[in-house]
Amino acid sequence: MAQSGPGAAAPRDEPAEEPEGGGRRWGAQHAGARELAELYSPGKRLQEWISVILCFSLICFNFYNLLLYLRLEHTPSVLVGIFAGVITADFLSGLFHWGADTWGSVELPIVGKAFIRPFREHHIDPTAITRHDFIETNGDNCFMTLVPLANMAYKFVSFSPEALCATCPWECYVFALIIFITMTNQIHKWSHTYFGLPRWVIFLQDWHIILPRKHHRIHHVSPHETYFCITTGWLNYPLEKIRFWRCLENIIQGLTGEKPRADDMKWAQKIK
Ligand SMILES: [Zn+2]
Ligand SMILES: [Zn+2]
Repeated sequence: MAQSGPGAAAPRDEPAEEPEGGGRRWGAQHAGARELAELYSPGKRLQEWISVILCFSLICFNFYNLLLYLRLEHTPSVLVGIFAGVITADFLSGLFHWGADTWGSVELPIVGKAFIRPFREHHIDPTAITRHDFIETNGDNCFMTLVPLANMAYKFVSFSPEALCATCPWECYVFALIIFITMTNQIHKWSHTYFGLPRWVIFLQDWHIILPRKHHRIHHVSPHETYFCITTGWLNYPLEKIRFWRCLENIIQGLTGEKPRADDMKWAQKIK
């Protein structure tokens, strides 16, 4: 952690720091941030709209069906299932975030502009996310959970009631996992929002049920190499203690020769 970054707390209208020699180091006026923001296309926007509508329809359908097959005797295994689902979601949020932050480039076909671009933009303009509407914030995560949600819905319409009753605790684990993955970027947006948050969101952050604002600031210190989990953040401390991300990076660098965060650095240093 060499130098302090833009942090997560900066109010959205706070002027970006002006380094010597012209270009801004971060904020909406940073040359790289402006270029990355312009790459958000109408086609991408349409894909996000469709994903959000399909995702929330399937969530409602599956939730209704889960309630139908829940039994009182399932309570302990359902609680364990929900807890395990949340932990798994936090780990996957870290793994995906680490992968997108550390490897690949915006120039990669399809995934570059669609999925890596927002991560690059987020490091040099961390408050841009607070200006994204519901669709732009949640479109990608809704897209990712469509297949498991459709798979769950298929089981509800095709399996026997006995089979559904028996697998209910497992489906609760999968459902909790899907819900927290779907909500991850909304939770991440709240962790950057310092004005006008609903009281219940602040309550969930204060009790560390969702990613707290102060906790996420640790990730936003250049060169963005730790605290990647952004759903609840519960796994950040233990993963940092065992140097989990560092070990993974060393293995991949050893195998491929690629330098971690080379593309992220390139965008951060862009001044024109
Ligand atoms: Zn990041
Ligand atoms: Zn962030």
